Amino acid sequence: MDLERPIDRRTALGLLAAVGALPLRGSEAAMVPSDATAGSAETGADPGATDAGGSGRMPVVFLAHGSPFLLDDATWVRELAGWSAALPRPRAILMVSAHWENQPVTLGATETVPLVYDFYGFPARYYEVTYPAPGAPELAARTRDLLVGSGTTRSVLDAPTRGLDHGAYVPLVAMYPRADVPVLQMSLPTLDAPELFALGRALESLRDEGVLIVGSGFVTHNLRTLDLRPDAPTPAWAADFDAWVTQALETTDVDALVRYRELAPGVRQSLPTHEHFVPLVVASGAAGSDRAVVDFPITGWMAGSFTRRSVQFG
Ligand code: ZN
Repeated sequence: MDLERPIDRRTALGLLAAVGALPLRGSEAAMVPSDATAGSAETGADPGATDAGGSGRMPVVFLAHGSPFLLDDATWVRELAGWSAALPRPRAILMVSAHWENQPVTLGATETVPLVYDFYGFPARYYEVTYPAPGAPELAARTRDLLVGSGTTRSVLDAPTRGLDHGAYVPLVAMYPRADVPVLQMSLPTLDAPELFALGRALESLRDEGVLIVGSGFVTHNLRTLDLRPDAPTPAWAADFDAWVTQALETTDVDALVRYRELAPGVRQSLPTHEHFVPLVVASGAAGSDRAVVDFPITGWMAGSFTRRSVQFG
């Protein structure tokens, strides 16, 4: 979303509807002029192969994913692209997005299938974005082995027709626009922080196999306080929560992080629901021995109360 531009009521309603906060009535559909780009490049990659290049231990990241409007925000797209350019090139990506909860843990498509346009009321071109990344069946097999073998979960389901949702593909369009890195999406099987931390820990060794584990959500996510005015002020509760989380990460205070619901200031207002925050907990679990090597490649605020804080471990 480009906050440099005034955004009218219809756009605001459309954005809220898009993220599921409001039921959409036809006449209130947003009409937003912009020039979003679609990651529609030919991949040329071998489906299923984890041969995108690169090797060695990968960092693990958590990113703020924005709505589909993110792709209209040239600054944000540039920041994400700069971040991916600075990372070692992954052999495959394991994506955990706020927008897919399913229990037990479920693995998405392992071949290229259509995206999941899980938003409503946007102009047609947002439904024309494609991201035909190769599937990652080998990564799916490794993920299943690690989760079951570690005792983290008794069973792992497959959802072979489930494509990437907007929490997954929107940032990937900006980071890997050629769609040439195999991607596997994994569901959030719970919103329980200790369980998700353990899930991340079980997956840490994938990083040694060239896999980029990506948690995609928001550190703060209260749609009812979305403020689309230019220069919307950041409420104190959001700033307090963001600062608390930052400190917990910088001091590697895992005990505090997984108890954020009871300890963090501003948590009730910052997170009326928790699905956008907990992908960070998965990433923190997967950080393992690199947990103290933490950086924030993207920061700043969006729509008043939404921190764009994105995290890299390792
Ligand atoms: Zn979201």
